[in-house]
Amino acid sequence: MRKGNLFVISGPSGTGKGTLVKRLMERIPDGWVSVSATTRDPRPGEIDGVHYYFMNDKRFDDLVGAHGFLEWAEVHGARYGTLKRKVLDKVTRGKQVILEIDVKGAFQVRKLVPEAVLIFIEPPSLEELRRRLEGRGTEDAETIERRMKTAEWELSQKGAYDMQLVNDDLEAATDELVAFVNKCADE
Ligand code: 5GP
Repeated sequence: MRKGNLFVISGPSGTGKGTLVKRLMERIPDGWVSVSATTRDPRPGEIDGVHYYFMNDKRFDDLVGAHGFLEWAEVHGARYGTLKRKVLDKVTRGKQVILEIDVKGAFQVRKLVPEAVLIFIEPPSLEELRRRLEGRGTEDAETIERRMKTAEWELSQKGAYDMQLVNDDLEAATDELVAFVNKCADE
């Protein structure tokens, strides 16, 4: 069994974080991806307990009050949080735990778990990011503008991460991510 680690993966929506994480999971034997809680509505095809634990404000408030979150943040008008107990338990059990969370959340995690490893996924450019968001077809124009604004701010924070990865070539980015995670886990 390898030493468990906590990896935090951030980057603007539309950078392909989700795809990279999925590919990482296919390539390492001891990976575990945390499922976050959120107050946003499910998108078509999203399943409760698989993509997120979808919940109302009251339930989310209760979890905040019970110190159930390792971190939580408001992103694009909804709240998102990492369920603490499960995540820390998996790290203790030797898993390579992946949190796919926003920049504010990542900095909260670093405060609480200083040994957490922060990875920032960058789009090749802001133009390419806009093209990907528009191509996804799940968000309206106003939402896309808001996500682009957030993206610019998030990109300005990438220097605080332990590793930056540009996702312009999916195969190359996957290889780099797998190698980095294995290096951390084998230390
Ligand atoms: P989406 O609504 O597109 O699934 O996610 C929007 C943003 O929320 C993404 O940047 C994603 O990384 C972030 N996010 C998802 N789960 C969490 C979480 O548990 N905590 C925080 N802080 N951000 C999250």
